[in-house]
Amino acid sequence: MTWDERQRAMLAEMGFRLPPRIAEATADDAAPVADVAVMERPAAPAPASAPVPAVARAPTPVAAPVAAAAPRVAAPVPASFAGLDGAALREAVATCRACGLCEQRRHAVYGSGAVQQAQWLVVMDPPDEADDAAGDALGGDAGRLLDRMLLAAGHSRLGDAATAFVTPIVKCRPPRGRAPQPAELDACEAVLTRQVELLRPRLVLAMGLQAARRLTGLAEPLGRLRGRVHRWQGLPVVVTYPPAYLLRSPADKAGAWDDLRLALRTTA
Ligand code: SF4
Repeated sequence: MTWDERQRAMLAEMGFRLPPRIAEATADDAAPVADVAVMERPAAPAPASAPVPAVARAPTPVAAPVAAAAPRVAAPVPASFAGLDGAALREAVATCRACGLCEQRRHAVYGSGAVQQAQWLVVMDPPDEADDAAGDALGGDAGRLLDRMLLAAGHSRLGDAATAFVTPIVKCRPPRGRAPQPAELDACEAVLTRQVELLRPRLVLAMGLQAARRLTGLAEPLGRLRGRVHRWQGLPVVVTYPPAYLLRSPADKAGAWDDLRLALRTTA
């Protein structure tokens, strides 16, 4: 992997500073991916009061073994979603009443990004209050950090040339931000399955504990789900931290970049 100016700029915006021997290299110099592990971490520590999700930090292994496939059958696409194109599916989701999460939502969050094929499907945790109000996934500072992370990896959810699509694991916000129940996850996986059929991604990036547990089928801490390649619906799945967590815990941005590099290697 080479470090071109754009990648360096994106990494700098993420809060990283490359060590001099890499920063001074020309764009044509091939910097081994392992060198990224020595990137300096941001100085600002997470506030002591910052809530931390169930994240157990784990070092990224040198090798990235493929995790055993989760013994779970994907939810079939029901007749109400089958055959719909992207626009029709978005409309169907907006009025969907397939599970109880429809009762208290203000807006369903379908997602945004690539219109045709998406290289990466980024699956987030359920919508938060702001997402529910806006009807869109990840605005604000967390959304800006996600966009910088994607750009650093050579992807974007923005514009006509978007190569990534970002969507939550369930499209409606669970009341009071609780975790979605299995029946709600089952119901909404049908929407995700149809999105996969339409977007034909090469890789799924699971950002957050709820998304990671659902897509891996493993009830482990997020840190233990990172650093290996899982499988869901025949697609490789890489797990990483959600942007909102990284804003509170910038020291873990280095781990997030390790995860993005694993995703890049997986689809190289
Ligand atoms: S969470 Fe998914 S399945 Fe449930 S009502 Fe919303 S769109 Fe439909």
